[in-house]
Amino acid sequence: MSEIINGNEISRVIREEIRKQTLTFREKTGVTPGLAVVLVGADPASQIYVRRKGKACEEVGFLSREFRLSGDAEEKELLEIIRQLNDDPAIHGILVQLPLPRQIRSQAVIEAIAPQKDVDGFHPVNVGRLVAGNPGHVACTPQGIIELLDRTGVAIEGKEAVIVGRSNIVGKPLALLLLARHATITVCHTRTRNLPETTRRADILVAAAGSPEMIRGEMVKEGAVVIDVGMNRLNDGRLVGDVAFAEVAPRASHITPVPGGVGPMTIAMLLQNTLNAARLTENL
Ligand code: NDP
Repeated sequence: MSEIINGNEISRVIREEIRKQTLTFREKTGVTPGLAVVLVGADPASQIYVRRKGKACEEVGFLSREFRLSGDAEEKELLEIIRQLNDDPAIHGILVQLPLPRQIRSQAVIEAIAPQKDVDGFHPVNVGRLVAGNPGHVACTPQGIIELLDRTGVAIEGKEAVIVGRSNIVGKPLALLLLARHATITVCHTRTRNLPETTRRADILVAAAGSPEMIRGEMVKEGAVVIDVGMNRLNDGRLVGDVAFAEVAPRASHITPVPGGVGPMTIAMLLQNTLNAARLTENL
């Protein structure tokens, strides 16, 4: 039987480490790390994420500020808020909750955030630094997956890693992080031919497709480490991952559950990036 990787517990330990480091940082500098979260519109899932982020900030001793715009806000209103936050010395990290309404260009918004305050790691400067092997802020979910592997004692070097999904927020940055740790990488997507044959090669299999339970038992090699990023809400209200857990768990050496696997790590890494941003400002 496989080991279930407990993301809730690992995230709790990391957040406690960040709380202690924040205390020391504040004693040394007199500065409190500050995160601004901007929400446009009233998407229920986004509202829950924003609330969780604010609460997590307060628990580790950060300043947390929330900005809300209505769903019909214009792009220039959002850009003006970002401009003010870029100039605000009390704010070290800026996060604009995605997705944005159709009238606002996400890429223009991402590029308006000062790279040193881009704690989501989506700005082209931070993406470019990751590609060049000199990372600045790194996207939270992929970074959280590396932490899960490290803290579970899973070796990455030399392993065959297969990622299903090539998005800018998960698949692509994760491929770069695993490559930097000397794994051999395959990234799959909707045009991949013979997906099961490819996923069966994986020592480390990451599912980040947003397709409920698409990774079946026969697609997984015996003894593989399986990381499920997917968060899919079914019509009956159940939250399931991209991995058919009951079929895959008996074959895997390690597996993340949904919920309670990758999800809690994303917020922990957001806190880590915000503390790092504050340290950068203070040259620490
Ligand atoms: P996107 O929709 O942006 O990307 C999905 C990727 O998966 C695409 O590259 C797509 O291929 C590929 N894909 C979709 N279906 C298949 C399929 N049947 N076979 C092969 N490839 C497929 O999703 P995100 O990366 O934003 O998110 C992925 C999942 O992770 C979602 O469930 C999301 O909710 C979850 N998520 C969870 C987070 C967490 O904190 N736990 C954070 C972020 C996301 P193509 O490019 O060809 O279209």
